[in-house]
Amino acid sequence: MSLPSIKTLLAVWLGKGIACVNRTLGRGGTSLPGMAALKVDPALIKKLVSQHRQVIVVTGTNGKTTTNNILAGILIRAGYRVAWNRAGANMKSGIATALIENTSLLGKARTSTALLEVDEATVPLVLADLQPAIMVVTNFFRDQLDRYGELDKTVALIAEGAKKIPGLKLILNADDPLVASLAQRTGRDSYFYGVAASRWVSRVPEQVREGCHCPFCSHCLEYAYYHFSQLGNYRCPQCGFSRPPVHWEAVDPDMAPGITFYLQEKEERWRLSLPLEGYYNLYNVLAAAAAARFMGIDQKIVAEAVRTYTPQTGRMEEFNIGGKRVLLVLVKNPAGFNQVLRSLLLKEGPLNMVIAINDLDADGKDVSWLWDVNFEMLAKAPVGKIICTGLRGADMAVRLKYAGIPEEKLRIIDDREEAVEEGLNLIGPGETLYVLPTYTNLFPMSKILSSRQGKRK
Ligand SMILES: [Zn+2]
Repeated sequence: MSLPSIKTLLAVWLGKGIACVNRTLGRGGTSLPGMAALKVDPALIKKLVSQHRQVIVVTGTNGKTTTNNILAGILIRAGYRVAWNRAGANMKSGIATALIENTSLLGKARTSTALLEVDEATVPLVLADLQPAIMVVTNFFRDQLDRYGELDKTVALIAEGAKKIPGLKLILNADDPLVASLAQRTGRDSYFYGVAASRWVSRVPEQVREGCHCPFCSHCLEYAYYHFSQLGNYRCPQCGFSRPPVHWEAVDPDMAPGITFYLQEKEERWRLSLPLEGYYNLYNVLAAAAAARFMGIDQKIVAEAVRTYTPQTGRMEEFNIGGKRVLLVLVKNPAGFNQVLRSLLLKEGPLNMVIAINDLDADGKDVSWLWDVNFEMLAKAPVGKIICTGLRGADMAVRLKYAGIPEEKLRIIDDREEAVEEGLNLIGPGETLYVLPTYTNLFPMSKILSSRQGKRK
């Protein structure tokens, strides 16, 4: 390998310096080191990533952080030395930060595999630099504000980018027509994972606007069944595009507690258990297991890494406050919110919740996305009380009222700490309070709950 340039070294040192200061101050800061370093050397990502033997990209709308982290756990257990953006900072700056962290002061990579979660809109910008061998795609959901076909443009750009990477292998979600369409659109070798029909599927679509249309001819797709949103077993009556045959299929899933299912590979069937809740996490573990198996990693190693997986802060965090259980789950778009609600409906006993909605940049500035969430499913559920907080707590309460939740079950409490306090008062020991924040409420809520718990689990 050639020696790194002074520019590259300066960029690495600056990035490491900032990361060090961040750590000393107890700040997370997963983007700043990379952002500063890229200003010094704009080609830094390419220079650092090219020192790796293999590069794996994980992208999609929802589930990339969980998928990426599960896969990292598997690879590490299998003996790989892995650089990965574990906290989910998935734009250029976050990618650069992760690479810098795993680079020596002399500018040499200490890792041989780069496993990078990449924001779907960032993929077209970095694919040529990353030159991945494998790209795993989770799903393409319309995010809150995608009313103008941004997602279709993004997917088209991803396809264009992927076409230009020779030898790229795609690991695709067969149940999502938009993701599955990448196989034909890129002409790259594609391998599919999917979830088999089970007692969890439904025959009617959820009220989410995404993707009923064929990605090739725009005709309305016909579904034999749905898992959620546009995920399911689809077929286009006009052009014949349909759910492709899968290489890895999740069979007979069981949802509580945790997720258990059989992974069907050709004639073989073996069991996986993941200590996470939620049907959507079934897809995340399936995607990670599919990628690992594609890489030739032993079933036993995959199963063991999955079984001992511990989630990163915030995606799904559990607190124990004086014997009361609090589950903190990020909600960021209609499809994700629907999944969280569906998994809550599987629980027993009255549902008590604190929903914290903000409308800052990182949350999405237009809260009208709340009208795309199927809160109507709560109307028939045993709801205890729902406390609405955050900058747009009142909008949330209005939405719930229109969804058919009786007014006496709703409360608006502007102050987050007070909202949590009130929520805890609603439940007894052994019961669970669900706290559902948007992005900018997530860390404040996590802090409030941690301090109430005294010591984090
Ligand atoms: Zn079609």
